Amino acid sequence: MKLPGLIDLQVNGFSGIDFNSPTLQTKEVEEVCRLLYAEGVVGFLPTLVTNDFEVIESLARTILAANDSSGAKILGLHLEGPFISSFSGARGAHDVKWICAPDINRIRRLQNIFKNKIKLLTFSPDWQGSAKFVEEVCDLGIYVAIGHTMATQEEITLATNAGATLSTHLGNGIPALLERHPNPIWAQLAEDRLWVSLIGDGFHLSRDIFQTIIKVKRNKVFLVSDSTMFAGMTAGRYQSSIGGDVILTAEGRLSMAKNENLMAGSAMSLRKMIETLIGNGWLNFEEAWELGSIRPWRYLGKRGWSEPVEIPVPESWLK
Ligand SMILES: [Zn+2]
Repeated sequence: MKLPGLIDLQVNGFSGIDFNSPTLQTKEVEEVCRLLYAEGVVGFLPTLVTNDFEVIESLARTILAANDSSGAKILGLHLEGPFISSFSGARGAHDVKWICAPDINRIRRLQNIFKNKIKLLTFSPDWQGSAKFVEEVCDLGIYVAIGHTMATQEEITLATNAGATLSTHLGNGIPALLERHPNPIWAQLAEDRLWVSLIGDGFHLSRDIFQTIIKVKRNKVFLVSDSTMFAGMTAGRYQSSIGGDVILTAEGRLSMAKNENLMAGSAMSLRKMIETLIGNGWLNFEEAWELGSIRPWRYLGKRGWSEPVEIPVPESWLK
């Protein structure tokens, strides 16, 4: 049976390979392309998190040198940070040391060096001058997402007016305790122009908020794996370049060792996530597969393929 291939707009690494590791090699990126293709992924955005800009540039160079012809296609890069909120619960596992105010010249430089390969930027619109920054980023052909934020309703509206189109992993990258209302989750839920990406590993979101977001956002929602190098690895305690020591459970929950309430990205591929969502009874196969394939394809629009890329799917995936 053939189905539209999966498209993953947030991949930090896979199977022991970490896109944010300073020792990353291009051949390792090519290996991830092959492994993801075997997991049904036809295209993805390697994601670089908050870091020193010199390191971001060097990692981008390593990743974009990869030959993806025998695997999932690298559709460009997703920069998640460093212009996010430094507020402790909002920044999640990102290193506060490198968080900084939006600087369009930094992005312009990267976009020039890498010939328009930066496709998505996640930032927090609570910085001063955010609306102008969003316009300038959009002018570079980059989609702007809101995430890791404590922005007010007004700041979210202004960023959306300026061209922001997505809420990155809504419901995560936000403090565990919030004002009941107003808060940034309600503000982004209420904003019809914003698409939403969700981490569907069964740990990042509870069933009630996951299903509520899907009902409210209707067609404008898709899954991202937000997978780290720990996806596809066995349970244990590991060292991560993103958040220091992390703990991976046998069930696939990945958290910071010093505070297990704090998630450190996911440890599942998009396909494994779909399997988990079906297994948990949160979605049926058709719904879950669409959220991982057609929906991100639609969000990408002209930056993706004109038609969905179909792939043969083994019988065992259909359950
Ligand atoms: Zn994040």
